[in-house]
Amino acid sequence: SNAPKNQEGQAIWSQDKEHFIHPYTDYATFKEEGSHVISEGSGNYLTDADGNRYLDTIAGLWCTNIGHGRTEMADAIAEQVMKMEYCNPFGHSTNEPGSVLAAKLAELAPGDLNHVFYTCGGSTANDAAIRLVHFYNNQRGKPNKKKIISRMDAYHGSTYIAANLTGIHGTKYSFDRIADEWVEHISPANMYRRPVGAEDLSEDAFCDFLVAEFENRILQLGPDNVAAFIAEPVMGAGGVLVAPKGYHRRMRDICTQYDMLYIADEVVTAFGRLGHWFASEAVYDCVPDIIVSAKGISSGYIPLGAAIISSKVYDVISQPQCEGGLLSMGFTYSGHPVACAAALKNIEIIEREKLNENVQALTPYFYELANGLMDISVVGDVRGSHFMMAIEFVTDRRDKVSFPAEADISNRIYQHCLARGMIIRPLGNQIVLSPPLTLTQDDVERLFTVLRESILAAW
Ligand code: PLP
Repeated sequence: SNAPKNQEGQAIWSQDKEHFIHPYTDYATFKEEGSHVISEGSGNYLTDADGNRYLDTIAGLWCTNIGHGRTEMADAIAEQVMKMEYCNPFGHSTNEPGSVLAAKLAELAPGDLNHVFYTCGGSTANDAAIRLVHFYNNQRGKPNKKKIISRMDAYHGSTYIAANLTGIHGTKYSFDRIADEWVEHISPANMYRRPVGAEDLSEDAFCDFLVAEFENRILQLGPDNVAAFIAEPVMGAGGVLVAPKGYHRRMRDICTQYDMLYIADEVVTAFGRLGHWFASEAVYDCVPDIIVSAKGISSGYIPLGAAIISSKVYDVISQPQCEGGLLSMGFTYSGHPVACAAALKNIEIIEREKLNENVQALTPYFYELANGLMDISVVGDVRGSHFMMAIEFVTDRRDKVSFPAEADISNRIYQHCLARGMIIRPLGNQIVLSPPLTLTQDDVERLFTVLRESILAAW
């Protein structure tokens, strides 16, 4: 059981177990075990209800990029609440932080991505992006151009549309699907576990294979029916999959060739996780038509999402409509002043403390120590980019044989890490690391010392 030892913690634990429906939670064990109650956060550490401290190697859930417990963030949020906590964003009224942040995002985003549609998180930002893409094609007089090509193993969120874009098989059990006719999935760019027919290809040839599959699918569906391609620069929840060199750029070019839009889901990869404000252009030489952002945009201090749209798309969607005359989508909290004030302070901190530079500087050491784990026979693959990493476990490295589900390998490693004062993310046969950008060299050393001990103890 996860029940805390002290009474106050136990009361929270019980209330939680009785009343809080947790996302992505296994109810086979939840009703017995309940949740681990976390009470405080400071810097790169979290503290639970019993006062145990943990190095947070996953930045909450890929989001607390500036680390926990920043007074400056609390002050910025409080100041905005006292000045003006909310006003109507619909139509012709606005607020200062929403406008200043939109201009700042336009400055930081690549190419002509100069226009921001705000949401409350990543799923809603993806949802909004798809609605805007469809609206864009309606406005252009191309009402049949609606299909979105996504990838198996992608994670795009949990609204109905975002869940359909998602290609992770396990997310589909028991839930219904709508709008299936709009969404097509192609192979993920998984270098470690290739699709049939691509097992022995070189990196370049594998890239050719994936690009050809994409183009063939477009031709099969008819380019007049296909609106967009959506992809994470590095696939996150699908197992931190880094595409072969040149992949995103070539997929972008195919989109241009067939008059399709390229949507980069940078919910995880932006705001420093890959050492830059946005990864698309800086890391992958790919300027998308839409970038979807959330998480690190406000470092999780308050919910916020954004679909950042190119001028090319904006010029069409901002044309007056013949009937109705409204861009009829949006949320009460689109451009919430308090969330936008938090995001502005978050960006100021990332800039002032040179956190993108910290990620770039620590990356070689991070991977040097991670690759050192390959001397443990059950470590099958260490992969990632910058501060996104997955370690995959196998019983046979040569044939890449996964552990059976009953072995519960990643959960066991997670438990051993917890006992040693560290939080990691277990994910099937993998564990995921996505630390705050404020990680230090000492933290990196501690992280891999604890991880090595935990893997050895678990297996
Ligand atoms: N897109 C990606 C790539 C994500 O990793 C996530 C969440 O993990 C989402 C979208 C959904 O974001 P949210 O949970 O804020 O709705």
